[in-house]
Amino acid sequence: MKIHIIGGGPSGLYFAVLMKARDPSHQIQVFERNPAGNTFGWGVVFSRRTMQILEDSDPETAKRMRAVCAEWEDVVIAHKDATLHVGGNHFIGAERIQLLKLLHERCLELGVEVAFEQSIDGLESLRDADLVVGADGVNSTVRSELAEHFAPTLRPGSNRYVWLGTHQPFDGLTLTFRPHESGVFIAHSYRYSQDTSTFIVECDEATFAKAGLDQRPESESLQLLEEVFAQDLGGHSLMSNHSRWIQFLLVKNEHWYHENVVILGDACHTAHFSIGSGTKLAMEDSIALADSLNRCGDVARGLEDYQAQRKPVVDSLQDAALSSLEWFEKAHTRMDLEPLPFAMECMTRSNRLDLENVRKRDPQFVAEYEKYVASGGGP
Ligand SMILES: Cc1cc2nc3c(=O)[nH]c(=O)nc-3n(C[C@H](O)[C@H](O)[C@H](O)COP(=O)(O)OP(=O)(O)OC[C@H]3O[C@@H](n4cnc5c(N)ncnc54)[C@H](O)[C@@H]3O)c2cc1C
Repeated sequence: MKIHIIGGGPSGLYFAVLMKARDPSHQIQVFERNPAGNTFGWGVVFSRRTMQILEDSDPETAKRMRAVCAEWEDVVIAHKDATLHVGGNHFIGAERIQLLKLLHERCLELGVEVAFEQSIDGLESLRDADLVVGADGVNSTVRSELAEHFAPTLRPGSNRYVWLGTHQPFDGLTLTFRPHESGVFIAHSYRYSQDTSTFIVECDEATFAKAGLDQRPESESLQLLEEVFAQDLGGHSLMSNHSRWIQFLLVKNEHWYHENVVILGDACHTAHFSIGSGTKLAMEDSIALADSLNRCGDVARGLEDYQAQRKPVVDSLQDAALSSLEWFEKAHTRMDLEPLPFAMECMTRSNRLDLENVRKRDPQFVAEYEKYVASGGGP
């Protein structure tokens, strides 16, 4: 099969690896507009279950990922003067740049052609392939070009957020809520290597404006955030990597393929970062697409199967992610809650976990919460 892939992010590269590993006779070419190694972001996070799926799909890639990742099992909620740990949540963090590097290396070993600095601005010249894959991210040109067929909806969230890094080695997926004179700032942080953590900060539009974050140069914004999170950063500074304040864009598509063109990863759907990384979803898409094509044996049936199998899973995850996003957008109205009820509300915000699920993960945390409620503890 001749396959053209637009976009050398996690979804495009991993799909190329999976297809070529299963059948070396495929001719696969990836087109990436950026130079090799020129990427953004800090660490990406996977659940233990996703890691197992990656291991089953391509053990070699998973082995190399394991060699460069950090593992933890607590969700940590820092609110008021308490830092509460909820155990039983197994996660794995890996550096995004390392992940892309090892996927690129794996592509080269298997004989996938990866052309960097090749921006694809129209599909015309690529449609002669058996399969064209739009793995070109949240602002996908493939999706725009075939918008009448994919029927996308794009909805921006109301909060502002920025992806930063820090050398504070957070132990667990840490959610930190800090009031400031301009409003409430929330940090989502997790360690992805021995000594570096992703540190995403979000706040609502009013806080963003009141703190003057639309006006301040980057160094001053970082300084302000270092002050807001001083007690959490342990003296470490915040680091930027072309980091901009953006609004989360919820992307959905009614149809995921048209003729021999298919979209996957962020081009096809996004889910708020509070529920797991887009990278995990993107790589799971690659697995689902490769599985469907292999199972069905031809492109037309393979693409139909891919959408039928994968879309309901992603729809349900997007619903949960939307509930989670909405909870974070309103978190500033919940700041009066005491740490235990606040943490329980935070843990169950997406409706994917209820009290009993949390109990299975961490019976002691739920016992403390129930003791608090039984003692008549209010907000
Ligand atoms: C600023 C920012 C920082 C982020 N940081 C993190 C993070 O630290 N951790 C995390 O888990 N997630 C992070 N994310 C989310 C994460 O990047 C995505 O969810 C994930 O990478 C999706 O993978 P993908 O392969 O679908 O798309 P992408 O990773 O976006 O890859 C798409 C690729 O296509 C290329 N491309 C686009 N258009 C064209 C074209 N016309 N021709 C050729 N190539 C093209 C792009 O250069 C890019 O390399 C971040 C997102 C943003 C916006």
